[in-house]
Amino acid sequence: MNKQNELFEISKKIVPGGVHSPVRSFKGMTMTPRFIERTDGAYAYDVENESYIDFCMSFGPLILGHRDRDVENELKKALERGWSYGACEPYSLKLAQFIIERIPFIEQIRFVNSGTEAVMTAIRLARGHTKRNTIVKFSGCYHGHTDSMLIKAGSGLAGTTEASSSGVPASVANDTLVLELNVLVALEDCFRTHSTNIAAIIVEPLPANNGLLIQSSEFLHALRRLSKEHGALLIFDEVISGFRIGFGGMSEKTGITPDIVTYGKIIGGGLPVGAIASTRKIMEELAPVGNVYQAGTLSANPLAMSAGLATLQKLTPEAYKKLDNYSDNIYNVFREWLRDFDKGRFKDIELITHNSLFWFAPKNNIHSLKDIPSTLTKRFNEMFEILLNKGIYLAPNAYEVGFISLAHDEKVAEELERRLWS
Ligand code: PMP
Repeated sequence: MNKQNELFEISKKIVPGGVHSPVRSFKGMTMTPRFIERTDGAYAYDVENESYIDFCMSFGPLILGHRDRDVENELKKALERGWSYGACEPYSLKLAQFIIERIPFIEQIRFVNSGTEAVMTAIRLARGHTKRNTIVKFSGCYHGHTDSMLIKAGSGLAGTTEASSSGVPASVANDTLVLELNVLVALEDCFRTHSTNIAAIIVEPLPANNGLLIQSSEFLHALRRLSKEHGALLIFDEVISGFRIGFGGMSEKTGITPDIVTYGKIIGGGLPVGAIASTRKIMEELAPVGNVYQAGTLSANPLAMSAGLATLQKLTPEAYKKLDNYSDNIYNVFREWLRDFDKGRFKDIELITHNSLFWFAPKNNIHSLKDIPSTLTKRFNEMFEILLNKGIYLAPNAYEVGFISLAHDEKVAEELERRLWS
């Protein structure tokens, strides 16, 4: 038994399924998870010192690559100042100011520890602000594991709902309506029926948790228009797209101003940070000014704030241009391989991309969950194992997207080509 298998066997005895987050478990694969011991730039190294070109990149936070030296230096300095105070400190102030100066609609921000926490607070805030209970979400969007977001559509467009996790009470599920992405009539129907009960619509403006389900601009603008007309708030969950699709994420890209935005991942540069941001009027409904309660022992942790600021400071317009160029290089290499490898064995697989996010899909033109062919997982798992054996690491699940970083430069694209064809 090799070292990875040994560690996984031990892990399974003491941790549910051997993992601390389900997607890490290689479920449905014949291989067992790689245990990563160290990382650098675009590369991850496992406990047997095998190297992988990493396209999982911690599921998104590491837009600069692993161990970016500027972030590392800031972290070293931060360590010497102590790593948790539970009191006011200047570091979160700098990060908040940096963001507020660059994203026009944001007047106030509060830092939490994860994307899940950010969404949980955004929903409570929307309910507190509107004095309404119903939240509209879309099937195919993931918003973390807070109870009210673990809901899938029942029968009918906006009819009964049921929980997609055991442990979520029906009483909670009943307040979440789930609609199909990119279907305008369903949205209009929903507002007609539930208008005065809807506190907020929450959406990933670039849904990237069930593959990459790119939405039409018409649909995204309709979310803004309808929510405004009916007195509901629009929450953009930019945990993945924020600071990745340009600094201002999808709100900047589409020109749509949400009422509340949630962030995670890049905002902490690889340390645990989430954030809720909005206008001062809405944000000041949070405690201690307002009556919507939210708190956190480790919130605005000084190490995490330093890593976040050091990361965001490097995200200049030039950096995004470079990232797009690096991404295109990588996509070209992958596309050629998909077309020609082993007599066209994977030529049915498309690479769907949006800036530095990509997804291997069994066809093009996929904009909602119902468009995804049932062959996806089988085809992906086959390809995933071949790539892993070649030293190329994708997130181990067909529905996860890939992430390119600023460490995935021309040299890495060349190395990718070499490994793919070896
Ligand atoms: N919202 C979105 C859009 C996400 O992609 C994620 C995580 N992938 C979350 C919320 C939850 O964030 P976290 O895992 O940090 O709790």
